[in-house]
Amino acid sequence: MLDCAIIGGGPAGLTAGLYATRGGLENVVMFEKGLPGGQITQSSEIENYPGVVGDITGMDLMQPWPEQCMKFGLKHEMVEVKRVSKDGDTFKILRANGDIDEARSVIVCTGSVPRRAGFKGEDEFFGRGVSTCATCDGFFYKGKEVAVIGGGDTALEEALYLSKICTKVYLVHRRDKFRAAPNTVKRVENTPNIELILNSVPQEVYGDTMGVTGLKVKNRENGETTDLPVPGVFVFVGNNVNNEVLKQEDGSWLCELNDQGQVVVNLKMETSVEGLYAAGDLRIDAPKQVVCAAGDGATAAINAIGYVDEKFGN
Ligand code: FAD
Ligand code: NAP
Repeated sequence: MLDCAIIGGGPAGLTAGLYATRGGLENVVMFEKGLPGGQITQSSEIENYPGVVGDITGMDLMQPWPEQCMKFGLKHEMVEVKRVSKDGDTFKILRANGDIDEARSVIVCTGSVPRRAGFKGEDEFFGRGVSTCATCDGFFYKGKEVAVIGGGDTALEEALYLSKICTKVYLVHRRDKFRAAPNTVKRVENTPNIELILNSVPQEVYGDTMGVTGLKVKNRENGETTDLPVPGVFVFVGNNVNNEVLKQEDGSWLCELNDQGQVVVNLKMETSVEGLYAAGDLRIDAPKQVVCAAGDGATAAINAIGYVDEKFGN
């Protein structure tokens, strides 16, 4: 029986693991389906993690985190979790291969995934010219033109990153105001090879067997359609939370969620179910920042330790 099962190994899960093990829980496993680090490892640049100054990628930032946790006894299982359920005081963790682990407490840190914008050809050309990761795929378009869709921090930061590799970046946004931080907007506006295509939505990405050859965008004000002859389209239109592990066999949810599927927690990261905590991007009102996800993970672990001690007399 695990003292604590942590589902997800991004900043929230890793920090929960660090605090849970260092705080005295004996048998703590972090189930992460890929390599630990989470979605920030896809970011080409992070400049707002306190104490980390200078040019640093998300991958650089996260690289030492697993080693620090393992030192205190955290175990990592590279496993996809299908479902977390509760039977009496025991949580059941269903692995993708059908095996079940049991735990006294669970911290769910499954984060979020990039959303698709929903235009024609987006799914068909995904991975063949349509991407949601500039750090991963930007290099394929070195010396070429690309389009970026979105008006938030991710779209603008990744447009800046791509502007250093590509000859031109068309930044397509459906409004004329950006959601991104003012400083980032200023940097984009001052970058000569980023062309803003505002009040416009992508209509169709097209291509051939080799991949994408262009993107049609429609101006929402005058209805005009423009063809952008780009081989790469980067879509950054927000995220959906990964809450599937909380769905029960009968279709109900293990704990309370809000109407956007985010997990309802209190300031201790406690969910509506005793012994179950949620931390990071998948919780309600998440600021969606690495430092906040890490803080949530620490808060959840500290409270999970108290719960396990009190309930099971560890
Ligand atoms: P995630 O990082 O999403 O980690 C969740 C982990 O859970 C993943 O590793 C996933 O593989 C795993 N997982 C999911 N489901 C399962 C399952 N069923 N079984 C097992 N494992 C599972 N924040 C900043 O502070 N500054 C920035 O500059 C910044 N830039 C960003 C740039 C980009 C391109 C993106 C995408 C995000 C950026 N963010 C930034 C936001 C930041 O990355 C997130 O807020 C943060 O990573 C959230 O951490 P998390 O641990 O909650 O979730
Ligand atoms: P976001 O802030 O939700 O922005 C999504 C953008 O995509 C918005 O501009 C939205 O337009 C647009 N959009 C949504 N659906 C669309 C569609 N179907 N077609 C076309 N456009 C569409 O998402 P994000 O930029 O990924 O950021 C997510 C969170 O992470 C935010 O809280 C952000 O602050 C944070 N983050 C922070 C940093 C940083 O601190 N440096 C970096 C990256 C991300 P509208 O504006 O019209 O809604």
